Amino acid sequence: MKRRKFISAFGTAIITAPFIGAVVSQASEPKSFEGHQFPGFDYNFNAFEPYIDAQTMEIHYSKHHRGYFEKFTAAAEGTKLVDIPLEQIFTQISEYPVTIRDNAGGLYNHTIFWENMIPAKIEVPTELEQALENDFGSIDAFKEQFGTAAKTLFGSGWAWLILHENGKMAVATTHNQDNPLMNIAGIKRGLPLLGIDVWEHAYYLNYQNNRADYVDNFWNIVNWDVVNYRLHQALV
Ligand code: MN
Repeated sequence: MKRRKFISAFGTAIITAPFIGAVVSQASEPKSFEGHQFPGFDYNFNAFEPYIDAQTMEIHYSKHHRGYFEKFTAAAEGTKLVDIPLEQIFTQISEYPVTIRDNAGGLYNHTIFWENMIPAKIEVPTELEQALENDFGSIDAFKEQFGTAAKTLFGSGWAWLILHENGKMAVATTHNQDNPLMNIAGIKRGLPLLGIDVWEHAYYLNYQNNRADYVDNFWNIVNWDVVNYRLHQALV
């Protein structure tokens, strides 16, 4: 695959107008984060069974995700933050109180997470397949690296597939509700393409302490079209 010029994940083109432009397909167009809105949930809560149970999905979306949204909204109210897109806030997050970092991160990360899932097993698009082969050797090698990162992260956090500014993809992990857009020391930075929530609230009702099975089953519901869309939009 010929590596195209990468529009910086930290540049204004991506940061201020995320995912606006040519649409690969309606179904794969991610939501915009403008206006800091709480996103709708596109499926029934039982749509991802048996991999993620309905009760976990309902609590995760309507309690946890909404909680981050409401706390961020309350903290941002009356400040300049209400007019700044989340991706841009993250590039300067070290300047803000931790309550902004935690709750803006929680709002953004879960929106990405729901978009990363589809209640059907779908093929990896050719463009993404070639990029994964280039950067990891094979799709299976990528899954192994991502899965190991997700299974072995100590405590609560996320594992990510990110796109570096140099146009190469990599696996990264973040703690709590941090994400790879944040200018926090120790975070491997890049544009999030795919993320998995490995907080216990994401799997404990169905899997108890068996995070590994939850991570392995995640591959049955990954929306590769959305991952491909994010990659495509960042590279064109
Ligand atoms: Mn969560």
